Amino acid sequence: MIDFKNVTKTYEPNITAVRDMNLHIDKGEFVFVIGHSGAGKSTFLKLMLREEKATKGEVMVNGYNLTKIKEKDIPYMRRTLGVVFQDFRLIPNLTAYENIAFAMRVTNIDEKEIKRRVPYILNIVGLAKKGGKLPTQLSGGEQQRVALARALVHNPDLVIADEPTGNIDPALSLEIMELLKAINSTGTTVVVVTHEHELAKRYAQRIIEMRKGVIVSDTGAKGGEVI
Ligand code: ADP
Repeated sequence: MIDFKNVTKTYEPNITAVRDMNLHIDKGEFVFVIGHSGAGKSTFLKLMLREEKATKGEVMVNGYNLTKIKEKDIPYMRRTLGVVFQDFRLIPNLTAYENIAFAMRVTNIDEKEIKRRVPYILNIVGLAKKGGKLPTQLSGGEQQRVALARALVHNPDLVIADEPTGNIDPALSLEIMELLKAINSTGTTVVVVTHEHELAKRYAQRIIEMRKGVIVSDTGAKGGEVI
């Protein structure tokens, strides 16, 4: 599912954000990657999305070797995963329904399928009655649920959430976490990247902690011990 083998990412001129990282995440896991600012979490995320390329080592995601992948295959790889960002990244002049439909249209899914699937996904995230609302007419938590719905349109094997609770209040954060848990319970792998260590401790089956580009502990490492 996700495999990092001796992965190093060095930015120009000479900043090593991820150093010799080895990591395996299996299908169906619910993993938190935590660490303070500057630990290398965003770089880890960008390596998984192939927004950045590893300087050394091998990154495998959903069967794609991201070290060797051709540019033309990157969109196909990205369709196997759903991403939720801290700042939601919704299109402001489109309704919740249209934001989700748009994500389907750009990948040439036919209108009949869109009409069938969007209400179904809106229902999963508890927004069945709010499809007609614009992002500005929704609370932060609701906007994040639209973003989560959009991440689910392609029925991904893997959902990656980048600080998903960073811009919403604590009560709504718990709702989002409950939703991620529900999505995970259907077999989808969930990776949450966050600096909110408390939230991670409350929810995670597995917590990977990064510091200065290195994994300093992993509760899911072989044998279950903290490394
Ligand atoms: P985190 O998400 O945990 O805050 P980052 O991956 O953003 O960590 O950053 C890790 C290190 O890499 C930091 O020292 C940061 O300044 C540096 N860094 C991140 N992105 C770039 C970039 N595009 N160019 C140069 N340095 C970067």
